Amino acid sequence: MKAAVLKGPRLIELEEVPTPKPSVNDVLVKVEACGVCGSDIAYYQRGRADVPPPIILGHEFSGTIVELGETAKKLGLFKEGDRIVAEPVMACGSCRSCKQGHPNMCEKPTVLGVTVNGGMAEYCVVRYDYLHKIPDGVSFEEAAFTEPLACALHGVKKLKISSGLSAAVIGPGPIGLMIVQYLKKSGLSPVILIGTRDYRLEAGLRLGADYAINVKDRDSRYYAESPVERVRELTDGSGVDRVFVATGSVSGNQLAVEITGPRSVVVFFGGASYEPTSTVSIPLWEGTLGEKEFVFSWLSPYTFPEALNAIKKKLVEVTPLLTHSLPLEEAGKAIEIAEKRLENALKVQIKPGQ
Ligand SMILES: [Zn+2]
Ligand SMILES: [Zn+2]
Repeated sequence: MKAAVLKGPRLIELEEVPTPKPSVNDVLVKVEACGVCGSDIAYYQRGRADVPPPIILGHEFSGTIVELGETAKKLGLFKEGDRIVAEPVMACGSCRSCKQGHPNMCEKPTVLGVTVNGGMAEYCVVRYDYLHKIPDGVSFEEAAFTEPLACALHGVKKLKISSGLSAAVIGPGPIGLMIVQYLKKSGLSPVILIGTRDYRLEAGLRLGADYAINVKDRDSRYYAESPVERVRELTDGSGVDRVFVATGSVSGNQLAVEITGPRSVVVFFGGASYEPTSTVSIPLWEGTLGEKEFVFSWLSPYTFPEALNAIKKKLVEVTPLLTHSLPLEEAGKAIEIAEKRLENALKVQIKPGQ
């Protein structure tokens, strides 16, 4: 099969590699669409110390089952031709976290496109117990948004939302733009979108955000010299009730702390650009007086069904977020478009069948 193989930092080559064989618990999936994620960009830039290349990236993919391993076949839950998405983080099932029902905290996960080969190839092997069928009416391109949306919805669970609360989303990338829609549909108001690029903020306004704030570009009509003041203005002086942080930028994460009001909840989702040394500072006294909550969200435990449903029911419209589809041959270019936000990119997908 053809595969886009990461050979080292910033080096992806299209190669002919053996098509993987599904073992008893696996199925073989013909990949149809594979999204480029921020983490793919990070691995492309600097690789991973624990998993040396070569590796095939890509964990946000959809496809069709073409072959089933013995167990998968015997159980009869899936058959050849089924359209599926795969949960990329396959927990070990045996460690302390797994035994306590927290597979996202698994100590020894197998992760498609991260620790084992992923979806930037014609075929990919996936464990049958991490598959979900794509509902009728949902395209492969839409379905490839399931993984990032599932991660985002796990974060939203921690946000303790209810109708009538105000919200800010920091980081108008694909995740932030999905969350804006979800919060609006859930009755939060106003929903304020904060970022640094007008084309992304304007996409958010089209998708339902009530206000946009550009914290960087002085020429922007959404620019605010003091985003903290601007948020206070928009929330009748009280500060915002809920903040979803979907950016890796440290200043964006810090801003989240500063725009909150009393009884607020902040969910840090952005992973701080995979920089283990990043920190934010939280004022203890103000936090105490306001009983503020600061929580973190990681991965997508048990939220795939909900994400597929949100896409099917159009609680979240993903098609407007898909700006680029490239063939497998151009996987490296696809990652660079996403990395450098070229051509007003939002979500970039690779289409191995194209
Ligand atoms: Zn991802
Ligand atoms: Zn585990």
